[in-house]
Amino acid sequence: MKATTAAGGGFVGYGPGEKPRWEEYSKCIHCGLCLNACPTYRELGLEMDSPRGRIHQMIQVDRGRLAVAESFVRHIDLCLDCRSCETACPSGVEYGRLVEAARGQIQEYYRRPAAFRLLQRFFLCQILPHPSRLEKLGKLLRFYQRSGAERVVLASGLLKLLPRHVAALAPLAPRMEKPFFTERLGAVVPAEGPRRYRVGFLAGCIASLAFARLNEATVRVLARNGCEVVIPAGQGCCGALQVHSGLRERARELALRNIRVFEDGGFDAIVTNAAGCGSVLKEYPQLFEHEQQAHYTAAQAFSKRMRDVTEFLDEIGLNSSFGRLERRVTYQDSCHLLHAQRIRSAPRNLMAHVPGINLIELKESEICCGSAGIYNVLHPEMASRLLQSKMKRVDESEADWIVTANPGCLLQLSAGVRASSRPERRVMHVIELLDEAYECNSASGRRI
Ligand code: SF4
Ligand code: SF4
Repeated sequence: MKATTAAGGGFVGYGPGEKPRWEEYSKCIHCGLCLNACPTYRELGLEMDSPRGRIHQMIQVDRGRLAVAESFVRHIDLCLDCRSCETACPSGVEYGRLVEAARGQIQEYYRRPAAFRLLQRFFLCQILPHPSRLEKLGKLLRFYQRSGAERVVLASGLLKLLPRHVAALAPLAPRMEKPFFTERLGAVVPAEGPRRYRVGFLAGCIASLAFARLNEATVRVLARNGCEVVIPAGQGCCGALQVHSGLRERARELALRNIRVFEDGGFDAIVTNAAGCGSVLKEYPQLFEHEQQAHYTAAQAFSKRMRDVTEFLDEIGLNSSFGRLERRVTYQDSCHLLHAQRIRSAPRNLMAHVPGINLIELKESEICCGSAGIYNVLHPEMASRLLQSKMKRVDESEADWIVTANPGCLLQLSAGVRASSRPERRVMHVIELLDEAYECNSASGRRI
């Protein structure tokens, strides 16, 4: 159905371009088995904020019975794109594709509030895709965080004068590290011992500034497992946040840049430590289904070699010369590792190799912690409710360390720990745990 202007504003029917496809939404048999897997439905109990309800609304728009207007946009926006519903669905509905296409339509044909558009244009279009601008902003932020200015601003209440979405960024802004991992672009790190694999490392955009130590640990762990690690210059933002926001054209540009940078490296695998990035990197071909065949073919070749670092290490057989870490540990599944990439056992298998680790299964570890890219900035109330539920489960586990597999989850869980009764609890990536266990061994028996 062609889009027409609705009486109350917005459009009835989808406009030209990518949209939720009949081939996909017609697989939904409305059984409702996804409802209890959906974080927003669990919190609100509203059908309109469930996967089935959202799919129903998408169908109604396609049939010309509902407008792409405020109500539709609100329910689609409140979705975390966590894809827990995909895991629960017996009919194989690829819900992520549907919601991302719906957001593409919203992006094209619905006028959002000015503050939202400003934030989106500035952050997702003008900063993230441009490594030099991002690095300059990172340096400014680092100065602001380390000079004491941040403390003064937070204490002064000045932030209340800013638009809500901008003010919400302040306490959630990741800590900038020194040095940035961008210094390592272009480096080739040799394997420890005989070279078994040659891997390309995709370092991430914000991760290169705020998770530089995690990236260094990833390189060390790969090298200890016989990998020569190449960190190609010219790589950049993977486009995940743009895909999740419906900015598909911008995401295609970013995808093509990464595909070109990695295509001639002779890599056995291209590796990331960010589950949210990894799922989009593996799904690059979806961005080019209606584009030039050459781009689609190149995207397929790229995504075939793409691996999450936990998946890759589990596949190649882990070097388990670890020292002992006597710790009670729990693991929060990152949604885009578990539900989008269907990787559940790899991180658990890796941790099981470390002597002394007591891995306690976290109840509802498959439910989102509320991070979901920039969701916690755009929907702070829902994100906070989800985080509170998560922290209750963490408390029940009595774990000393919370381990996960995605930088966004690390930030969200760290915020939860800071606000909890046990702020000394550590939050870490699986790779950081392995790195510490290797280090513990090489420090001849030193215990952490
Ligand atoms: S992606 Fe997550 S939040 Fe969105 S409908 Fe599915 S389960 Fe619910
Ligand atoms: S589980 Fe799948 S088929 Fe059933 S209502 Fe949810 S999306 Fe539709």
